[in-house]
Amino acid sequence: RLYNEVQELKGNIRVYCRIRPFLPGQNSRQTSIEYIGENGELVVANPFKQGKDTHRLFKFNKVFGQAATQEEVFLDTRPLIRSILDGYNVCIFAYGQTGSGKTYTMSGPSITSKEDWGVNYRALNDLFQLTQIRRNAVVYEVGVQMVEIYNEQVRDILSDGGIWNTAFPNGLAVPDASMHSVRSTEDVLELMNIGLMNRTVGATALNERSSRSHCVLSVHVRGVDVETDSVLRGSLNLVDLAGSERVDRSEATGERLKEAQHINKSLSALGDVIFALAHKNPHVPYRNSKLTQVLQSSLGGQAKTLMFVQVNPDGDSYAETVGTLKFAERVS
Ligand code: ADP
Ligand code: MG
Repeated sequence: RLYNEVQELKGNIRVYCRIRPFLPGQNSRQTSIEYIGENGELVVANPFKQGKDTHRLFKFNKVFGQAATQEEVFLDTRPLIRSILDGYNVCIFAYGQTGSGKTYTMSGPSITSKEDWGVNYRALNDLFQLTQIRRNAVVYEVGVQMVEIYNEQVRDILSDGGIWNTAFPNGLAVPDASMHSVRSTEDVLELMNIGLMNRTVGATALNERSSRSHCVLSVHVRGVDVETDSVLRGSLNLVDLAGSERVDRSEATGERLKEAQHINKSLSALGDVIFALAHKNPHVPYRNSKLTQVLQSSLGGQAKTLMFVQVNPDGDSYAETVGTLKFAERVS
């Protein structure tokens, strides 16, 4: 039943907004969040300005407030994961300014108990459980890739000891990135830790770098029907995007300016692609960035897309929040 519900969605693109709570020690308690509706309405306002003009209404498929747990967020994501085994390609993004909770939603806080698990661990855990249920009828193989896109360069962050697995010779995989066979959620946790460690190599400070690069966890499932020998393929891309904050051109120079320009370019390319897909435009401009090229085969066609729009509730972030919400509104 849930599966049909997802199938019927217009254009197969969903946008969920998630507002992270205030953090302990965060000084300002002035919030830009005015109202959260039951049906995906969100009203934001600049707490430092008076007057009606400062209120803005947005509408998404769903808005998760500050109290939403990782489990609640995943409950609404779960039907998408199911459809991967039916041969769909699913892309899940987290978009928002640095510090808005993208990594929290996708992976969870750094030291993770099961309860804190983000979407990616829960999704993989579900996938393995579902493949077990159908095991008598279909034999599944699951392969994982992990790449980082920084300054329009794609880097394999699992390549140490990486094995090419030619069992996935389809066009869905990220070209030239190592594919790793996984059999359990533990395997995935281990690989992701390796990936996250490799991600920091060469970076001056972990947070600095990770907020300026996109991280793509690419999961490929192949199911062979025991009776008919027919093969079904599905994929799941989990993307922790670079921070969407605007960088002041007058202040940023050198490397920082270059990074900002690359991020800007790839995020707007992503927006253009999703916009084109949502509006069923005949031309989808995949070629404009490395990010959209890497994701091309899993976006569009038989694909389902979910974007988490992450919001920092702080009143000081009002301008960034409106920018983020406008981006999301355009693609939803
Ligand atoms: P981003 O990846 O967008 O830069 P993070 O995911 O690192 O942001 O979140 C910034 C901080 O806020 C982290 O300390 C994180 O643990 C915390 N945080 C984010 N979302 C939540 C949440 N829903 N509940 C509790 N803490 C959160
Ligand atoms: Mg992050």
